[in-house]
Amino acid sequence: MKEDILAIYKKFEINNLDMFFDNLIEYVNKYYPVFSKYTSIDYLDAITRVDSAGLILGHSDDNFEIAIPFYTNKVIEGLSEEELSNQVSSLIWDLSAYMTEELCPSCNDSNLRLTTIVSKEDILVKFCDECLYTGIRNEHVEIEEDLVPAPKKKIEVYLSER
Ligand SMILES: [Zn+2]
Repeated sequence: MKEDILAIYKKFEINNLDMFFDNLIEYVNKYYPVFSKYTSIDYLDAITRVDSAGLILGHSDDNFEIAIPFYTNKVIEGLSEEELSNQVSSLIWDLSAYMTEELCPSCNDSNLRLTTIVSKEDILVKFCDECLYTGIRNEHVEIEEDLVPAPKKKIEVYLSER
């Protein structure tokens, strides 16, 4: 598990996020039984169904050129199975959850990301990584279900309506 992720991180190129992302999804599929211990099954099933073609990747304030070497070092230093699963899950999220220009109205500390509810992919939900605020249109709504990164098609519609 460790060697495989190091090989993927080693091949990281900022100009080829599609390949990198698809490699991460393939990795999650390969180690699905491990990931399923630490990640919700609904989320995992949704995320393993997607690929780079259906998403907008790398649209956020995350600096992957700094993050990947940092994550690589963490893996080399030694991570538990759970820590490694969480690292890969959060990397997938950071790469594929589209970050808007809109500041979180609740904490003002992070921009909102565009997501959808795992069972209702037609509803766009704005989500804050910092305080976990969730909103539909411009209203705060409590959502019990898992959220997944919004697909490219939904984001394009959202952007065209602004
Ligand atoms: Zn917030």
